[in-house]
Amino acid sequence: MRNGRITEIMYGRFDDGRTPHDERDVIRVDRGVLCPGLIDLHAHITLPADGSVEVPRVSPTLDGETRSGHEVLRAMARAGITTVRDCGGDADLIFRISARPRTDEARLITCGAPLTPIGGHGADFGAAVRDAPEIRATVARFAERGARFIKIMGSGGGSNGTHPSDPSFSAPLLREAVCAANHHGLLSTVHCLSAESMRLAAGAGTSMIEHAKFRTRAEDGTGFDPAVAELLAERGVDVTATMSVGAHVLAQPPEVSGEAGITWRRRHEQDMRDMSRLIEAGVSVLAGTDAGWRFTPFDALAGEVALLAECGMSRARAYAAATTEPARALGRAGDIGRLAEGTYADMVLYDDDPLNDLRVLHHPRLVFAGGMRIEL
Ligand SMILES: [Zn+2]
Repeated sequence: MRNGRITEIMYGRFDDGRTPHDERDVIRVDRGVLCPGLIDLHAHITLPADGSVEVPRVSPTLDGETRSGHEVLRAMARAGITTVRDCGGDADLIFRISARPRTDEARLITCGAPLTPIGGHGADFGAAVRDAPEIRATVARFAERGARFIKIMGSGGGSNGTHPSDPSFSAPLLREAVCAANHHGLLSTVHCLSAESMRLAAGAGTSMIEHAKFRTRAEDGTGFDPAVAELLAERGVDVTATMSVGAHVLAQPPEVSGEAGITWRRRHEQDMRDMSRLIEAGVSVLAGTDAGWRFTPFDALAGEVALLAECGMSRARAYAAATTEPARALGRAGDIGRLAEGTYADMVLYDDDPLNDLRVLHHPRLVFAGGMRIEL
């Protein structure tokens, strides 16, 4: 290893005459299966994961707030998640956390806050924009502060006063946001909970969509649109599934009782069916949990991979959806998602090969992030 990256992978025994150049930089593994660290493509490290849908108000003077963000990143690393893409929080807070990366935590990829219309879903995060000049100015400001991608709300969502089936931005403004991101050399991704919002997002030229749900006002399960699935497959748009949200809401007793529980169960079952159809249509579906939102815990990724397998992916494909595939989607295949000479030494040791049994992902035995051993 050198500078946190793998320089050489040696198999077999070291007492057979071969000696590594510098013992201090060598990690020896005697048993188990050494795998690349996992990538969670969709998390909110500054949200509380306690069921609330309000963005916590943060004081820019309180350092405790950044400390808790680092604690979340440490907890994620302990779960074998060595790269986290944060899909939005209070932008100032997020950028202050990412400006001080620590060696004992997951690597953070940030967008700041999601762009949304005034009063739109996630406006609480603080990046509500009115028009094209405001979109360009916000993207420029985020790019300068260290954003690695731009998140755009393409539809309503769980925020009060918005509905998942309604598109957020007009087609021209959505295109403006995607182009502004491209202009700064950044990827974009669009939050979409309805077929129409996905059609608009793909039309605007984004390479990625978050959630990819087919909600309608009636929530009667008729929202799936095969033409949209075909469009996403044809354009090679990557989709993060975030199936964990529903699964974890349903695991909460107060939420599963009564009318709300019935709605959530129906919605989650429908989402699972729709995701299966996207997978079947050849859409690139990737693992992202939405950790921090609702009740989704920060170590939900192993469960998300299992949910993808439940939606019809092979074990190999579901595992790739949290390793090699997100690395490719982020343009970081040379850095993360696999173990090879030149990639970061982000490594997790399991008792068995995840390709034999995905459940081992819940039980990392050793974790290294950039070559640093994480205390489990
Ligand atoms: Zn989210």
